[in-house]
Amino acid sequence: MNYQKIINDIYKIVSKENNSGSLASYIPELSKIDAEKFGICLTTTDSQEFHIGDSCEKFSIQSIAKIFSLIMAYRHIGDVIWERVGVEPSGTSFNSLVQLESDKGIPRNPFINSGALVICDILISHLTNPKEDFLKFMNTISNNTAINFSKKTVHSEKSVGYRNIALCNYIKSYGNIENEPKIVLDLYFNICSIKMNCKELAKACLFLANNGKTLSIQEKILNSSQTKRINAIMQTCGFYDESGEFSFKVGLPGKSGVGGGIIAIHPNKYSIAVWSPKLNAKGNSYRGMKFLELLTTRLQSSIF
Ligand code: GLN
Repeated sequence: MNYQKIINDIYKIVSKENNSGSLASYIPELSKIDAEKFGICLTTTDSQEFHIGDSCEKFSIQSIAKIFSLIMAYRHIGDVIWERVGVEPSGTSFNSLVQLESDKGIPRNPFINSGALVICDILISHLTNPKEDFLKFMNTISNNTAINFSKKTVHSEKSVGYRNIALCNYIKSYGNIENEPKIVLDLYFNICSIKMNCKELAKACLFLANNGKTLSIQEKILNSSQTKRINAIMQTCGFYDESGEFSFKVGLPGKSGVGGGIIAIHPNKYSIAVWSPKLNAKGNSYRGMKFLELLTTRLQSSIF
């Protein structure tokens, strides 16, 4: 398969089209990013790597990090995790509060903000140094020590974090947050602030395409059944109220972040990271969605 040629061709097509959408300006730090940045990296389970554009430039991975915090918590407590957070698509925006009242503080899934806050609470209850351990985990899955939090982004998000503060306090009122909301929110904002480039991100997620095993050190991060479960949640919940649309157009498990990144997994084949900061109305990268739609169409291969 000539992945490089296909990526180059699609990159050209998408770059020529009008770049719609807007930056995630509700987080001031993210409004400073060059809106025309566009990077891709595809890495295969047989150790090949193909990239184009701004694939070496780090960006704020935001909600993509929710995959990593979920996996860490899942490794720690196993299936009881699903007593604290569901696995149903919410059909609502990533920062919505509405369902929490009827669901009595149990978030619909771990990829909306409410669910990710509960996951952070679990990490705090089970780890002595959650932030350090999170970076260590990122190091293990990506064989890379150059992954870190961005203090500026944490500070920026904290300065406007009213919605997340409300979510965390509201869940706490139902007893589904054990720790102090301030501490939970601090971990959440730090995890969201992680900066990675497309190459690093594609490599870090490759184990999800490789039955739970990393390529670099052949370490089993998840067993096959757990890997299936994470990919399934990405498939059904990775794009909030646009998860159906992503499934319909792209046909791969994936996860987006408001920094404009998207990661998608083709089990047993590849992981691909796309970055383009302009977001559509649902908070997902406009060009990222477009690129991946054209990719699976051209490859005539998705999970379906
Ligand atoms: N840190 C962002 C927030 O809480 C993450 C949202 C996202 O990437 N969808 O609003």
